[in-house]
Amino acid sequence: MSNKIAMKVPLVEMDGDEMTRVIWKMIKDILLTPYIDLKTEYYDLGLEKRDETEDRITVEAAEAIKKYGVGVKCATITPNAERVKEYNLKKMWKSPNGTIRAILDGTVFRAPILVKSIKPFVRTWEKPIIIARHAYGDVYKDVEYRVTKPGKVELVFTSDDGEVSRQTVHEFAGEGVVLGMHNLDKSIKSFARACFTYALDQKTDVWFATKDTISKVYDHTFKDIFQEIYENEFKDKFEEAGIDYFYTLIDDAVARVIRSKGGMLWACKNYDGDVMSDMVATAFGSLAMMTSVLVSPEGYYEYEAAHGTVQRHYYKHLKGEETSTNSIATLFAWTGALKKRGEIDGLNDLVEFAQKLEDASLRTIDEGVMTKDLALLSDIADKKVVNTEEFLLAIKERLEESL
Ligand code: NAP
Ligand code: MG
Repeated sequence: MSNKIAMKVPLVEMDGDEMTRVIWKMIKDILLTPYIDLKTEYYDLGLEKRDETEDRITVEAAEAIKKYGVGVKCATITPNAERVKEYNLKKMWKSPNGTIRAILDGTVFRAPILVKSIKPFVRTWEKPIIIARHAYGDVYKDVEYRVTKPGKVELVFTSDDGEVSRQTVHEFAGEGVVLGMHNLDKSIKSFARACFTYALDQKTDVWFATKDTISKVYDHTFKDIFQEIYENEFKDKFEEAGIDYFYTLIDDAVARVIRSKGGMLWACKNYDGDVMSDMVATAFGSLAMMTSVLVSPEGYYEYEAAHGTVQRHYYKHLKGEETSTNSIATLFAWTGALKKRGEIDGLNDLVEFAQKLEDASLRTIDEGVMTKDLALLSDIADKKVVNTEEFLLAIKERLEESL
């Protein structure tokens, strides 16, 4: 009989690559398995295993998330030509995150983890800003054309039943450029639902913005779909939870976000999300303090760190050199997943443990014990810079005090 915290339903555990794979094991050994009777269904998404299984392992992991509802994922290598050589791969396998996102039809939410001693570059920000980026279409699935001589560009739609609609885009007198892009109501609807669902879960307001005054059909459709989904499916629940949905123009949203205290979920169209997530992440401080969660419209959750496999640190680690890699985002992926599992299964002690582990981690940093990346940002006077493992042990010390 152990007195460890019990779990009912397994978490889908997806292991990964390089330095984050090293950290993954350390987190489990030092901070999880001594306290929890950890139940997971393990999928090795490390590049070697993906290659060996022709990437079936990634698909199986995504299917398992559909079955159990909650997964936690380690950072993984997205192969490029160099990696194909380095790992002698059969093929340049696709990004596992892309594969999982496509199967779950999910939206990715990114949120910074705040600590007292690291001040955001924007002085007014007190609470995290969660960025949700629409992951389909627009300029990322466009068709482009270079006009090299005079001529007419037209937008032609031919319906399956033969109806034709034709508009002139521009009559070119000389050289120029043109692009055609699209989106789907179905995809915009799922994005809206994912945003409203996650905001309810987090009890935060939702802000959404487009340029509907200029783009009177394209962007206006986004605005209308959000409004319709909100009113038909979420308005009552939002009122009950005391949160709001707020729509404005994208330029107004940018100005308001900068002046705000934070604390909202900012839903962004694909391109806006690409740009704004880097802006918000950088302004909050460090990629190593940014979490990421994929939420499907059905309410499946997949947690991970927003950063990659920290390759440079891994090569140092392989040479036997000391590393000071920040494990916070990976640890918070675990605590996020454990909390969600605990909420769904009604396991209060699991939720409480995960919360204590998060608190102990932040306390460690606020008491001045931190990895190198944070030491560069923190305004604490006497900092103790520790290595990868020492950092986890320092968290453990504080965790034990609180148990
Ligand atoms: P990265 O792993 O995000 O690291 C880039 C740099 O950011 C590091 O070299 C390090 O800077 C700093 N950094 C990131 N996380 C850190 C942490 N936890 N602690 C301390 N410093 C941290 O990106 P990358 O090295 O360019 O990419 C490596 C691999 O990750 C690639 O193969 C890419 O495909 C993959 N990737 C995966 C995901 C994912 O699975 N979600 C996301 C992005 C990238 P210093 O070197 O200056 O210390
Ligand atoms: Mg980008």
